[in-house]
Amino acid sequence: MAKYRNNAYDIAIIGGGLVGCAAAYYLSSSASVAVIERGQINQGASGQNAGSLHFQIEHRLLQNNKELTKELEHYVALTQLAIAYWQGMEQELDCDVELVMDGGLMVAETDAEIDLLQRKSDLEKSQGLRVELLDKDETLKLAPCLSERVKAALFCPCEGHCNPRLLTPVYAGKATDRGADIFTNSRVTAVHRDEGKWRIDLLNSEGSQQRETLVADVVLNAAGAWAGEVATMSHLRLPLFPVGLIMNVTEKRSPLIHHLIQHAGRKLSIKQVHDGNILIGGGWSAPLAKKQGLWLSNSSPLVNIDTVIDNLRTAVDIVPQVKDLHLLRTWTGTTALAPDPFPVLGRAGQTADYYVAAGGSGFTYGPVYARLMSELILTGSSSFPLEAYSPNRFGPGV
Ligand SMILES: Cc1cc2nc3c(=O)[nH]c(=O)nc-3n(C[C@H](O)[C@H](O)[C@H](O)COP(=O)(O)OP(=O)(O)OC[C@H]3O[C@@H](n4cnc5c(N)ncnc54)[C@H](O)[C@@H]3O)c2cc1C
Repeated sequence: MAKYRNNAYDIAIIGGGLVGCAAAYYLSSSASVAVIERGQINQGASGQNAGSLHFQIEHRLLQNNKELTKELEHYVALTQLAIAYWQGMEQELDCDVELVMDGGLMVAETDAEIDLLQRKSDLEKSQGLRVELLDKDETLKLAPCLSERVKAALFCPCEGHCNPRLLTPVYAGKATDRGADIFTNSRVTAVHRDEGKWRIDLLNSEGSQQRETLVADVVLNAAGAWAGEVATMSHLRLPLFPVGLIMNVTEKRSPLIHHLIQHAGRKLSIKQVHDGNILIGGGWSAPLAKKQGLWLSNSSPLVNIDTVIDNLRTAVDIVPQVKDLHLLRTWTGTTALAPDPFPVLGRAGQTADYYVAAGGSGFTYGPVYARLMSELILTGSSSFPLEAYSPNRFGPGV
């Protein structure tokens, strides 16, 4: 950790998750950058997620948002950019992050789910995303691990997964190589404007409880599920809500699942990772820890055993051989959701040089969010239009 070497920077990034560290990597080639993290790098959602690279539109987005077709088309265009970044990532970063892009299947068990996949496929293809609707025989031939219950699947050849415990530290290390300072165990407690600069108060949580103030021209709030809490320090109201999710991992086994498997009507994501373990998730919620009705933002969400059982039962329905495996571990993480299903990316309100990058499927899209935000901050515009994701879409209070 840097020890408050300088206290004046061009850009201060609050949050040492994937978005914050990747943005630091891109920004630090042209600016002096500080990343401020209240705990350890990657301790938030970026280190706790499923690592799925899901480029197909998630079924819940299409199911509940028939009126959002235009917005979803725009999002699929962003997906194309994300795919290109992921394809070049290991080369660009010169690292091995256990990236696999062997394809993903979104499976359907009912006629209604097949209809949804057909609709989804039409929309995705219209924006150039490579997807193919497979019938039952084609699906089971491609993925023999799947249950006979599966009637069809939408195959996207670019989908896959990456190890979330590796990626963010790589970005952090590369950002440091480029000169960024990374302050860990440094909780931001206040962010205010003073004489044309941002003054950011930090509380060091290691032993000394030392207090420090950094000064920056620009703030990038990349605090994930805590972005709303951080925004209020500057009197900004960001409608981003913390959501707890669970993940499960089984013991290792010989290769069984060769794709990212998702479901068109049930909450499921399942994949076999590099070491042979099977990761099972898919958006099952975990209650946030609360005291007197208020979110305890320092605590992990709680594990509800019924939810774990329901998640595992769904996995066994779709990949029956999972039944023979022991569950090794269940954990929870907290992610950020906006009132609509999209990320929040851009300059906040009329506030001078205060930017936000949070929400959305931030593992799949985190690197692309970070790159586009760095373009926006450094040049005033980005190579992909971000207006649709502006914090200001929620109204003038932001
Ligand atoms: C269980 C789970 C599974 C998921 N699965 C997937 C998936 O498979 N694919 C996918 O695309 N997405 C997935 N997501 C979503 C994805 O993980 C997040 O969208 C993404 O990691 C967000 O990255 P981030 O950098 O914005 O936030 P985070 O990684 O949460 O980073 C924010 C950081 O800010 C720090 N911070 C907060 N407050 C302060 C403060 N006051 N001062 C200093 N630092 C502060 C936090 O400690 C944290 O480290 C999943 C999320 C969860 C929880």
